[in-house]
Amino acid sequence: MAIGESDSNWQLADSQLAMFDQKKEANSQKLTANCLKDLWNKSFIIDTYESRVEADFHRQRGEEIMKKYFDWWKSEHRQVMGVETSFKIDVGGVYLGGRIDRIEKGIKVIDFKTTQPRLQEEVDADLQLSIYSLAIKELYGEFPSELVMLYLNENSVTEIKTERSESQLKDAIKQITSVNNYIKEGEFKPRPSASVCKRCPYKGVCDVAAV
Ligand code: SF4
Repeated sequence: MAIGESDSNWQLADSQLAMFDQKKEANSQKLTANCLKDLWNKSFIIDTYESRVEADFHRQRGEEIMKKYFDWWKSEHRQVMGVETSFKIDVGGVYLGGRIDRIEKGIKVIDFKTTQPRLQEEVDADLQLSIYSLAIKELYGEFPSELVMLYLNENSVTEIKTERSESQLKDAIKQITSVNNYIKEGEFKPRPSASVCKRCPYKGVCDVAAV
């Protein structure tokens, strides 16, 4: 979500940050698995599901994911710098905005996913993480030392770590400006590739899908 967010979303982000604040935890708000379960249930929007059965399935799945997340979280001492941190950056004349799921001291960027884990080489080339790297430099004056895709599901937590070199970031900037030029020129020719198309929700109806 980038623009036009409701106050309640911002409040939720604030309450999440408060929960993970180590100083507050040391005082009284010690994070527990039940805390996370409650937060999940309070945030669950039942209206987006077609039936009660479907909603219950996803609510329960979410509770299992929260347990896995809690185990991951308590496995080491973490100093959180931000959750749902918004940014707006100028990348070669293109303005990009977004929110970073979690930033930990280090500086470590964590992006949560509930999809199947991707391959290491895909995460190494992921443009979203390159943009986050540029955003961190803008926000904190230094590049992150680590970028993590954290894949959560009811059975496991998979961390895929990566980093970005200067030349990778230069390539990312070129890629962004070139996409921006295509948009300005109204040039929307598809560029199918197996690695992209296999995760595309339109592959079943797309005439040029590569898978
Ligand atoms: S399946 Fe079609 S729409 Fe989807 S990424 Fe591939 S080419 Fe693009």
